[in-house]
Amino acid sequence: MRDSYDLVIIGGGIIGTSILWNLKAQGFMGNVTLFERGDALAEETSAKSAGAFRNLWGSRINMEMSTCSIKFLSTFEKEFDIPIGFHKHGYLFTFYPEPWERVKAYKPTFDEVGVRAELVPLEEIERMVPGLKAGVDHMDPEIREFAGFQPFAGGLYGPDCGSFDPSAAAKGYTERAQREFAESAEVHLRTEVKRIEFESGKVKGVQLSNGRRIGAGGVILAAGPWSMQLLAASGLPDDENLPVDPIKRQLFVTNLPDIPGYEHIPLVIIDRGIYFKYETGNLQIGRADPEQKSGFDQDASLAYYKDEIAPYMQERIPGTEHCNVKSMWGGLYSITRDDHNGILGAHPAYEGLYLACGWSGHGAMVSPAAGQALAELVVHGSYRTIDARALRFERFAEQDLVIEEIVI
Ligand SMILES: Cc1cc2nc3c(=O)[nH]c(=O)nc-3n(C[C@H](O)[C@H](O)[C@H](O)COP(=O)(O)OP(=O)(O)OC[C@H]3O[C@@H](n4cnc5c(N)ncnc54)[C@H](O)[C@@H]3O)c2cc1C
Repeated sequence: MRDSYDLVIIGGGIIGTSILWNLKAQGFMGNVTLFERGDALAEETSAKSAGAFRNLWGSRINMEMSTCSIKFLSTFEKEFDIPIGFHKHGYLFTFYPEPWERVKAYKPTFDEVGVRAELVPLEEIERMVPGLKAGVDHMDPEIREFAGFQPFAGGLYGPDCGSFDPSAAAKGYTERAQREFAESAEVHLRTEVKRIEFESGKVKGVQLSNGRRIGAGGVILAAGPWSMQLLAASGLPDDENLPVDPIKRQLFVTNLPDIPGYEHIPLVIIDRGIYFKYETGNLQIGRADPEQKSGFDQDASLAYYKDEIAPYMQERIPGTEHCNVKSMWGGLYSITRDDHNGILGAHPAYEGLYLACGWSGHGAMVSPAAGQALAELVVHGSYRTIDARALRFERFAEQDLVIEEIVI
């Protein structure tokens, strides 16, 4: 390890590793190191992810970032010579009548940005998801009333959506960066940054947990849900820290229902934001708990599946009551308080500090575009491929938020 670097990246998840590769790919001439405190890369949030990607978004920046990223991921295996399980299985959102009217209005923007999206009638939803009943007549009226079920009004299908393995991609980025730029791109595992050091409002370096001080011309913060803690430990007051909370999300893997055809379903989003996809002979199922408090707890709870997911799923898809949990885990979303979108770009109050945080549950899918955009900003001084200024830190003070309506 050197005593100083031109750039230090903090965090070796899918975001930090994408930035490392993209800096070099954009022609960054200096030396750069990535510090990851874990024993391996991408073992935290990036490994807990469902790895799903979609370009069906309501905001233009998310449509653009994900469209660009999907294109990049589609050739990743060939370019980086590593399998990442890239698979376009599609996404099917289902909607109750009121949101359906709003979602239909996005179609012209989808067409304009080049997002392939199909409005799907009810019979087609039932065909795509065997056993699913789009209406509510089959339900007990009391349960229907109590649980607030409504008949679906329509679906939105994205054929270019799918999933990949973010941890494998992180490995691919890093191995290639080290292979091609061995002299100037370093990665140090088991290396925790204790604080970022500043002098007269400028980045001076970082202090590691082992006490060592490393000089840095710039620091890129990609420490996932721990980014806010690190900035606080570095002396940033609340109003200069990230407006982001760590919030637990859980995933459950069950056997398939005894209904033929589940190998070919898209990722499906139904009532209460319950989502599921086929995953190597099983179903992977999740749902964001709106009651979940912020904090670093990552324990998964079988009771949550049994109380908040299974009963609703079996009403909508009779037969799924036989889906039993085989494994489950929790991980942390970094939820940006005001608009649930990433924070990317230079910190306005500290010269040399760059942020790539607050991805609010969609960091894996935009990681190629986020890495490229930030690398362009650092190397060229401005965005070149996608104008990512919408994600700047200043948007909160300016109340120029990125409002996203197509959420899970
Ligand atoms: C259950 C679940 C499901 C999800 N599903 C999806 C999905 O389907 N699609 C999608 O796009 N996104 C999904 N996400 C979100 C996605 O996983 C994240 O947005 C993404 O992984 C963020 O990557 P990251 O590199 O910022 O964070 P991380 O992967 O958490 O990486 C941050 C790294 O920084 C390291 N670090 C922290 N502090 C320090 C320090 N002080 N010094 C050194 N290293 C440090 C950590 O050890 C960690 O490895 C999901 C998340 C969860 C929890």
